[in-house]
Amino acid sequence: MIGLISATAAGAAARDRLAAAWPDRTRVYDGPVGDAVRRAFAECEQLVCFLATGAVVRLVAPLLGDKASDPGVVCVDEGGQFAVSLVGGHGGGANELAREVGELLGAEPVVTTATDAAGVPGLDTLGLPVEGAVAAVSRALLDGEPVALRNDSRWPLPPLPVAPEGAYGIRVTDRLVEPSGQEVVLRPPTLVVGVGASRGAPSAEVLELIEGSLREAGLSPRSVAALATVDAKAGEHGIVEAAGRLGVPLVTYTAEELAAVEVPNPSDAPLAAVGTPSVAEAAALLGGGELLVPKRKSTASPAMATCAVVRRPARGRLAVVGLGPGARDLLTPRARAELRRASVLVGLDQYVDQIRDLLRPGTRVLESGLGAEEERARTAVEEARRGQAVALIGSGDAGVYAMASPALAEASDDIDVIGVPGVTAALAAAAILGAPLGHDHVSISLSDLHTPWDVIERRVRAAAEADLVVTFYNPRSRGRDWQLPKALAILAGHREPATPVGVVRNASRPDESGRLTTLAALDPATVDMMTVVTVGNTATRDIAGRMVTPRGYRWQTSEEGSK
Ligand code: SAH
Repeated sequence: MIGLISATAAGAAARDRLAAAWPDRTRVYDGPVGDAVRRAFAECEQLVCFLATGAVVRLVAPLLGDKASDPGVVCVDEGGQFAVSLVGGHGGGANELAREVGELLGAEPVVTTATDAAGVPGLDTLGLPVEGAVAAVSRALLDGEPVALRNDSRWPLPPLPVAPEGAYGIRVTDRLVEPSGQEVVLRPPTLVVGVGASRGAPSAEVLELIEGSLREAGLSPRSVAALATVDAKAGEHGIVEAAGRLGVPLVTYTAEELAAVEVPNPSDAPLAAVGTPSVAEAAALLGGGELLVPKRKSTASPAMATCAVVRRPARGRLAVVGLGPGARDLLTPRARAELRRASVLVGLDQYVDQIRDLLRPGTRVLESGLGAEEERARTAVEEARRGQAVALIGSGDAGVYAMASPALAEASDDIDVIGVPGVTAALAAAAILGAPLGHDHVSISLSDLHTPWDVIERRVRAAAEADLVVTFYNPRSRGRDWQLPKALAILAGHREPATPVGVVRNASRPDESGRLTTLAALDPATVDMMTVVTVGNTATRDIAGRMVTPRGYRWQTSEEGSK
């Protein structure tokens, strides 16, 4: 919950806008501000105070306890110009909240957390549990002091300004190690604990067994990614409760799946009870990995729980990221986050230029020129398989006539693939033209580099017959000039000469241009490779200079209403 506090009428107006926009996330604290701040601080995860920073500093200072648990505090000035992340930038999420509030109120977010400002990822923002001297090591990174990285788990990390040797250290490991005063330990989710339990096994017994086994094997419970068991035990209270206490999901498999896993210690008891000779070992091993702790029983008598621990190899990460049509504000926040998450960036040089300023210092950039598609795809996959965090970029949406399919054709199941959608050219162009895609539509690429012309022609013909709105990608280049006229002629066989045609060049780029013409009037010579051409269907109209395709084949009557 986000607590909202204001003192003046101007502050209250901004506060109410926030409350109206986020009714389920916010609660207004009325009354004297000091009292309101104290109550909100105790009850909320975050506060937005529509007060001067000085006032908030004085009110909040006596309440501050621990960076890890204090709420994040954002201040918005009376004029609504700035949203200042005051306390709990990372841990309390105040940096992110300042950006969100800023966006909503039209205020400038002010973020002063050093790691955010310097382009060094905060050690507590990597998505991994972190232990040790976070403040000291973060400072060392910022000051350019040598910080050595020991990534025992080979976990894919974003670029960090690290050195081969150093007085400071970052260690990525699932082993129980005591960090020194100059060291941070990151806990990758590499461990899977298989669990079996008799009906009614107490959760304390299950939990003790798991924690004891990890401790004796020298493994950190904070690296446990999941508990795993057999379907029949999905609702077994002791196991469910243990997963909850560890804060990890419970994964279940069918008895048949488990019976197929080869294990060192099969036994008859689970075979009779649930139909597999092993639950704990088989469930832990089913996703692959190395068995670190073979089946163990709890010490209670009779023992009601078993467990086994497996370490899964770290998986590389391949993010396939669409950059949108060009404009920075059409790049999604998720795409931006993936670019900053990557240690290796793979892409066409002109697209890399589009986002180079967003990359973290130290990102390895593998750029290549036009044409080297297969090689780019292979490089990206190879880097991910070597355990890197890779972003493979494409303009628009990376899955539309772009890198996603060649990359995934190369990829095996030993890497994680994350797709980030982007605004594809057809959509960017449509928004400029009006509403040309209001009914069924297709995209057709006129490039016959990868596709034989007769296939393309067949598809154009089918679209013409089906009365689909058509957007042509790759419509015309210097070496390919007859395909567009040919395609338009096919459409003209089924549509009036006056059918609206939208021509958009460099959508959302500085030299954007869009114009509306007709099938009869379009001069193909005005079209190039930076352009998409959208041809209306038989119902598409030019209305006040905008291209509009009705949602039905006739205009809606008032009874149908507007849905
Ligand atoms: N993945 C891209 C498409 C790649 S194919 C996407 O989803 O948009 C390349 C073709 O896309 C170009 O020849 C052109 O037809 C079209 N295109 C890409 N960006 C464009 C833009 N900003 N404006 C107009 N057309 C664009």
